[in-house]
Formats: sequence, structure tokens, C-alpha cells
Amino acid sequence: MSGSKQITAIKGMNDILPPASARWEWLEDVVRRVMAQHAYRNVRTPIMELTQLYTRGLGEVTDIVEKEMYAFEDRADQHGRADHLALRPEGTAGLVRAVAEHNLLYDGGKRLFYMGPMFRRERPQRGRYRQFHQIGAEALGFGGPEVDAELILLAVALWRELGLTGWRLELNSLGQPDERREHRAALVAYLQAHHDQLDEDARRRLHSNPLRILDTKNPAMQALVEGAPKLLDYLGEASRRHFAAVQAILAAAGVSWHINPRLVRGLDYYNLTVFEFVTDRLGAQGTICGGGRYDYLIEQIGGKPAPAVGWALGVERVLELLQEEGVHTLEPVPDAYAIIPDAAALPQAMRCLQQLRALGVAVQMHAGSGEGMGSMKSQFKRADASGARHALIFGADELAAGEVTVKALRDGAGAQLRQPLAQPDAWADILKSTA
Ligand code: ATP
Ligand code: MG
Repeated sequence: MSGSKQITAIKGMNDILPPASARWEWLEDVVRRVMAQHAYRNVRTPIMELTQLYTRGLGEVTDIVEKEMYAFEDRADQHGRADHLALRPEGTAGLVRAVAEHNLLYDGGKRLFYMGPMFRRERPQRGRYRQFHQIGAEALGFGGPEVDAELILLAVALWRELGLTGWRLELNSLGQPDERREHRAALVAYLQAHHDQLDEDARRRLHSNPLRILDTKNPAMQALVEGAPKLLDYLGEASRRHFAAVQAILAAAGVSWHINPRLVRGLDYYNLTVFEFVTDRLGAQGTICGGGRYDYLIEQIGGKPAPAVGWALGVERVLELLQEEGVHTLEPVPDAYAIIPDAAALPQAMRCLQQLRALGVAVQMHAGSGEGMGSMKSQFKRADASGARHALIFGADELAAGEVTVKALRDGAGAQLRQPLAQPDAWADILKSTA
């Protein structure tokens, strides 16, 4: 096939390779630990769903559904019927679909989390990709403000465990649908009165999704949206009480926040509390985590009505912020590197290595090029490069005596000791890293 054009990955979709992948694994481990501490349990849903899950769940006039979704028609079955499928652009709709489909709330509320790739056809740039990864936490079946606060505190605990500091929390309340309707009428009237100042996007949204106009990034419209009627002024007693209760819990927990009346979130399904964790250190892609309450979504996709609240964070952005802040993670290194001078020793050596691994030792074995095992010198060079603290030498002398040489490569480099080949449990512990 010489002369064929090199095949590359799809634009905006990245390979995650060592050593960077170690940071991903570390982050995922921290997430699993923090989720367990808060009693959130893992859910894995398919990467594709019926397109209508998103058109119904996210709203027809959201950025995602209007222009970002990878949606296509499947091949027809024998009756000529074809499903409309979409790669998931976010995780909440699929999780809620699964919760409703399997009636998970029959015995009370559930606390759940997910992690995985999401797909949006956006213009790739720093912090914005076409395949990106989200981690999300969702609490379903709980209507009280304490769960909104719990989720925010869960995110704060996660930042603490990751060592992430450069963020701030923005909060808003979107109230309930009737309150939003009243505000919407006032907002549309206000925007109509300033129709000449609206950009093309805003004119298009004026009747379909005027709330989103408040979220505009167009500098020319900032003054206009600053002066727009604020949803917070339209909240009724119950909504205000809910919002106040969330804030009281955050205050007692020592978490500070800003009220951002223009925080409306990109999706239609939110009500009451909405929040974002933002940073100034990642340029325009400054939102690392966003979420809120979505009490009407389950019903909207055909499930039994139940309240819900959740958030999703962008893994790429969180990792990039950690990098900006100089948070370092350890590279995984093997405890030992097995040097095998002659291929004849492989069966015995590899049997020993399997036993060591079963005893909890991380071992990297030297592998040859196919033309034998390579010189001792080159094997030792590899051993050094691996970062292992010990070399295991399976030489002919050693094997003849039923032994293996354990040689220190770092602390006390050079020191070596013969050990019985058949009893790795007697000496495996000296190989394990003490760090
Ligand atoms: P933005 O305003 O930056 O487009 P969004 O409101 O579309 O964000 P959400 O749908 O709330 O984002 O997704 C939650 C998080 O997922 C975001 O806060 C962000 O960290 C991350 N995220 C969203 N879209 C992308 C993307 N295309 N590439 C990388 N991360 C993303
Ligand atoms: Mg977006």
C-alpha cells in the first residue's frame, strides 16, 4: 500500500496518548473516589440515542439541536423503516431516559454519575472539540434545595481533591415556568423596543428563545442585556425561598459565589437553581462545569414526573486548567524491569513475572526485536528509561542455581542480591514502591 495518503483522526477529535493519558486516569480515579464519598453511583448509557430524545429533551431551538448534533438516518430495515440516530451531545438526556425506562425511581430518589465522550459539531479551538468528555453528577427524585447544594458542594470537593483553585461559582435562579413566562413577556417587550440594537442571532431568537439572548457573547449588545428585565425580579415566594436555602447551605460550608442574573445555561430544560464554575485562565472557553435543576425533563421525554438536578464538567477544560495551575501528577512507572539475556530463559522468567504481578508488583518485561533479546547493555538502557527502581536479571547462571538477581537501579544503585526463583512471595515486597 505504499504511496497511500496517511489517514488521520477526524478534525476536533483527539487521541489521548501516554503520558497525557495518565492524567486522565488520575482524574477519573479522583472522581470515582469523590463520587463514592457522596454516595453517587455509576451509570453507563449508550453513545447513540434516538435523535428525538435530544430534540424533545434539549429543546428544538438550542445551539446543540439547531446546529451541533451529529444526527443521521440509520440504514432501513426490511420494511424500509429507518431510525433517526444521534451521537450523544451531552449526558443528561440519556441518563434520564434510562432512569425512566428502567423505573429506577420506584423506591425513591437516586444519585448517579457518568463519564464519557460527547459529540458536538462545533468549530474546534482551545477548550472546544468535536469529541470531548464530560463527567456528570445527577440526583433524581429529590425536590429540595439541599440536593442542589449537595451537588454544588460535590463539585467543590472534587476541585479540592484535584488541587484546582482558579475557579469561581456563579449562581442564578430561573424560577418556575409560569414565572419565566411573565418575565419572558417583559423581556420580549424590552428587546422589541430596542430592536435596532439586536444582532442577527438575537433577532432570530427574539421569539423562539429570548432568554438565550441574555447569554450573548457579542460585546456590542452587553449594555442592552445589562438593562434587560431580570428573571430574579419575577420569582415568586416559593422560588425565592428555594434559592435562599441553597445559598444558606453554601455560606455555612464556606463556599462563596456570585449571583449572575444573566446565567441562563444553554439548554431549555432548567428551572430554579442554575450554576456554573468558571475561570479566567482558559480564554473564551472559561466554563469548566455547569448545571442546575431540571424538574420537567423526565416528563418531557415521556417518563413519570420527578424532580432532578445535576451538573456536567468538561474533562479537557479541567485538565487544561490543572495544567495552567501547575498541578502535577505522577507518571506511572513499573516497580521492576525484567532483563532476559537469552530467549531460552523466557518460559521460566515469564512464569516468575506472572507470580510477581499476582503479588502486586508492576513489572515491565524486556522484549526483543524478533532477532533475539538484544545485548545486556541495551536491555539495561531500557530498564533505566522505564523508571523502574529494580532490575530483575534472568541470566543463565541465575537460572542454573534456581535464582534471579535483583539489582537496584535508583536508591543504592548497583546493589544486588540473588533471590530464589521459585519463591517470589519471599522477596516480592522489596520490589514494591514505598512512595
Ligand atoms: P459553552 O458555553 O462553552 O459552549 P455549554 O453551555 O455548551 O458550554 P454544557 O452543555 O453545559 O456546555 O456542557 C458542560 C461542560 O462541558 C461545559 O461547561 C464545558 O466545560 C464542557 N464542554 C461543552 N462543550 C464542549 C466542547 N465542544 N469541547 C470541550 N468541552 C466542552
Ligand atoms: Mg456550547
